[in-house]
Amino acid sequence: VTVAVPKERAPGERRVALVPEVVARLVKGGARVRVEGGAGEGAYHPDAAYLEAGAEVVERDALLRGANLLLTVQMPQDLVEALEPGAVAVGFVQAHKNPDLVRALAARKATVLAMELIPRITRAQSMDALSSQATVAGYLAALHAARLSPRFFPMLTTAAGTIRPAKVMVMGVGVAGLVAIATARRLGAQVFAYDVRRAAVEQALSLGAKPIELPISAEGEGGYARELTEEEKRIQHEALREHVAGMDAIITTAQVPGRRAPILLTEDMVERLKPGTVVVDLAAESGGNCALTRPGEVVEVRGVRIFGPLNLPSELAVHASEMYAKNLLNLLDLFVAKGEFAPQWEDEILQGALLMREGEILHGPTKALVG
Ligand code: NAD
Repeated sequence: VTVAVPKERAPGERRVALVPEVVARLVKGGARVRVEGGAGEGAYHPDAAYLEAGAEVVERDALLRGANLLLTVQMPQDLVEALEPGAVAVGFVQAHKNPDLVRALAARKATVLAMELIPRITRAQSMDALSSQATVAGYLAALHAARLSPRFFPMLTTAAGTIRPAKVMVMGVGVAGLVAIATARRLGAQVFAYDVRRAAVEQALSLGAKPIELPISAEGEGGYARELTEEEKRIQHEALREHVAGMDAIITTAQVPGRRAPILLTEDMVERLKPGTVVVDLAAESGGNCALTRPGEVVEVRGVRIFGPLNLPSELAVHASEMYAKNLLNLLDLFVAKGEFAPQWEDEILQGALLMREGEILHGPTKALVG
């Protein structure tokens, strides 16, 4: 099997799909690994480290010659034309944001595995890049909240007086939210948590957060939340309005699959926040949980700073790449047998994550999107 790893070209993207440690393991297993020169720079892996791990380092135009698998973080459009028949392209596709990419892949009759479609089932946990990258995002969300806050997070007893711990609320306690809770707690904050799924509330409790419990239970399919009804939204708004007023920082991560992120912090709620309060909105990429979020920016409204970071995992490129590469290594077990390219198409993980097979779009919502 021949595996190819390009240098990521998306603006601001520092991650790389395979790190040298994982390359060495693939090479040991009989794979041929081809890496574009400079691919690891953003994550501090020089070409020499890839060579030492047994990879070939090549120019971009030679990358896909004879390659069975293209492994990427954000799937690049410029390589689509170079994909050879039978090859599989793997990476985050985000079809709803990149319809042109999907059309180009379909025109090329490509076979595409979208990392965001890996099923959230126990057996696929080690391949679950949404989770590994959300772990990074949740950690950085807490750090950014602390950094933007004009207050200490920890309680301090000093000769210059006693500082009370910051109050931090985490709204949306999925993978990122749980890590944000743990990180804010480690920084010494008093943490409150809100989610519409009961299981999430219990996990927050076990991490030492104080849950905000409302009479709403919105478990959707596959462990995700469903969209709230208008009545539930009203109850949520009324209750959260009271709670947010006392917070020093609010981290929001709420998502509903296939929909715009739900608005949890409305403009009138932001008005109730104390000046100096910080909001870090991890849902900025899918519309934001705060009505005033501007993706990629810090906006200040009456002393409240609202940050909507984009691509946080790229900021922690070393470990984000390491975790992503391990996810791919585990996924490759479904593509490679005894060093040969032998995809197990019937496996439920590949069935779930295959966006397109030889140009035919298999994922319903994507098909509807690009027609
Ligand atoms: P996500 O990114 O889709 O959403 C983040 C959180 O926002 C979720 O906890 C969701 O309940 C919450 N949310 C949605 N609407 C909300 C609202 N109106 N108010 C408050 N909170 C709201 O979630 P995720 O982190 O991807 O995790 C989703 C689920 O998948 C979880 O149950 C998680 O445990 C599960 N999971 C399973 C596996 C596995 O078994 N392989 C791996 C990862 C995650």
